[in-house]
Amino acid sequence: MIPTELSTHLSETLDLEIKRSQSVSGGSINRAAKITTNKGDFFLKWNRSAPNDFFEKEADGLKRLDQAKSNLRVPNVISTGKPDTNRPGYLMMEFIEEGRSGNSFEFGRQLALLHQTGAEQYGLVSDNYIGSLPQSNRQHRDWIEFFARERIEPQIKMAIDSGKLITDINQNWNRLSAKLNDIFPASTPSLLHGDLWGGNYLFDSSGSAVLIDPAVYYGHPEMDLAFTKMFGGFSGEFYSGYESETPLEPGFSERVPIYNLYPLLVHVNLFGGHYATQFKSILRKY
Ligand code: ADP
Repeated sequence: MIPTELSTHLSETLDLEIKRSQSVSGGSINRAAKITTNKGDFFLKWNRSAPNDFFEKEADGLKRLDQAKSNLRVPNVISTGKPDTNRPGYLMMEFIEEGRSGNSFEFGRQLALLHQTGAEQYGLVSDNYIGSLPQSNRQHRDWIEFFARERIEPQIKMAIDSGKLITDINQNWNRLSAKLNDIFPASTPSLLHGDLWGGNYLFDSSGSAVLIDPAVYYGHPEMDLAFTKMFGGFSGEFYSGYESETPLEPGFSERVPIYNLYPLLVHVNLFGGHYATQFKSILRKY
């Protein structure tokens, strides 16, 4: 199940004996397994065709979230490796035992605390990935510059280059981008999970939320909250918990589709089809 070269490598480098491995489904990109060893259980994901720094970047994101000003749980990273000719790239981390239910209010409250971890500029010291796509994190002092130049425009370019969108879309985007100053409320750069949909957190056996699979950068905090609404939204308690620390600025709901142009474009680039239609119809409204 786990490629032999990978299990041998892990046994040698980490001095452990892998007793069992059990496939874990649910991931969109990588293969994954729970491995039982003489040193405990671990979660292992791997991919033969991942870019060289793919798992290092994910590990870096997990560590940044772990060091932030919140008590949100993040799995401890054990080890990462680049793909090479006979071994896939991999990320090994603490295995999280999932519980039956979780405390959504506390999850929301802790996310608001996470967002209090700040930086001087939007972006990050280096680029990383969102899903399997490259994510540009070039730093800017201005949120709108960052949102336009590093989030929307690279994804539009990628979609045009691959034929998923046509160049006319730039006109519609330029019309909206000229209005962004009046749309986004003032913010300071906040540490974000960056890919916070329902599949990227777990509740552990004590009911605490655990963040996984991030695409970390410093951004507008509403960007993470909008992301939670991408596929239906989190529970009401989650947003109450968030607002118990940081009340939302008026008009947030109307801004959600604008923030979510980014994940929507990511979906256009990954899947095309009706996501492109959805993207065009949102742009047309502005
Ligand atoms: P991918 O990078 O392929 O999208 P994920 O990181 O989302 O993979 O992981 C796939 C699934 O594995 C998740 O949906 C979750 O159920 C489970 N999972 C992820 N990380 C852990 C972990 N540290 N412990 C236990 N289960 C995990």
